[in-house]
Amino acid sequence: MATQSTCGLVGCTRAASYRFVSSAQDNGIRCRWHALVYWPVCGRALKVAVIVGTILMVINQGDVLLNGHLTVLVACKIVLTYTVPFSVSTYSAFAANRLHST
Ligand SMILES: [Zn+2]
Repeated sequence: MATQSTCGLVGCTRAASYRFVSSAQDNGIRCRWHALVYWPVCGRALKVAVIVGTILMVINQGDVLLNGHLTVLVACKIVLTYTVPFSVSTYSAFAANRLHST
């Protein structure tokens, strides 16, 4: 069985890096760039970020928000709080679907 060495999207000639479970019309093979915008992975990471990020934000910044002391620094911390679960979810999907173990 031959393996595809390039990205599965039409017109993309970058090297294949990941293989995601997908529908019959899409082989799920993606280069690094297109893996970042692959909707099943990105959408799941967004859901995780909203749920886990909100819980972490309430734990870490809830008292500040309830007291009405929102500053630029606190707003930046809130944004970073949401990026952590998004990054972890995305990294986990990439690690689990990597084509090469290197
Ligand atoms: Zn590609």
